[in-house]
Amino acid sequence: MKCPKCGSENIQFATRTSGSPFSASDSCCGFLLLGPLGILCGLCGSDVSTEEFWVCRDCGKKFTEADVKAKEKEEREAAKNYQKQREILSAAGDKTHEEIEADVAKTQAEHSAAVDDYQGLLNKYANGDDPLLKKCAKTVKHDLWGSIAMLGLIFGGVVAFAGDSEISLLVAVVCGIYLLVHSRRSKKAKKILAEADPSFSAKFQATQDAAERMQAARYLHKTSQSVKDYESKHEKKE
Ligand SMILES: [Zn+2]
Repeated sequence: MKCPKCGSENIQFATRTSGSPFSASDSCCGFLLLGPLGILCGLCGSDVSTEEFWVCRDCGKKFTEADVKAKEKEEREAAKNYQKQREILSAAGDKTHEEIEADVAKTQAEHSAAVDDYQGLLNKYANGDDPLLKKCAKTVKHDLWGSIAMLGLIFGGVVAFAGDSEISLLVAVVCGIYLLVHSRRSKKAKKILAEADPSFSAKFQATQDAAERMQAARYLHKTSQSVKDYESKHEKKE
């Protein structure tokens, strides 16, 4: 057996008895009802418990066998998870952590370039002469507010669900209604813009694709980071 905290095998078994072996109130009642024999009743109802545990001589951690088993289970799961993450990384081409970091920066830059390009086109129509397209472009530009409303809906909903105040419920409802109205209007506006200018759809799609690539790179980075953490933790122990 090893200490679950520091891994030392320099451990000491110990026991501790707690509770009173003799219950005064029980024996008192017993004496009144049954005479001297009743004092024995006080012994019957006693609640003595002996705790068995180990103490680590190196770090002072006090632990039980159940703690060790739980720790072992946790370790097994971490090892399994580590294997899975290694597989994900090798399926993605076994890049180094630095290469993955560079990918994150690159996809982030590509994403903001795609967003700028798309926003530029929207601005062109928002400041243009065609009144219908102008209106549509302005509506679509409010997609950002839609994202904020989505956050408000989730956050307000969670707080309201946790039973905290009616204000959060109100926030969630207002955000929900805005989101519903805006997403319908935005969808319509996007359709009109796409019919007027086919490059609109292509540029919008480019922002979505770039966002997907950025998310994938970030996920890979997170995976690589946790593989790194696992490896450095296990190197230290050996
Ligand atoms: Zn220890």
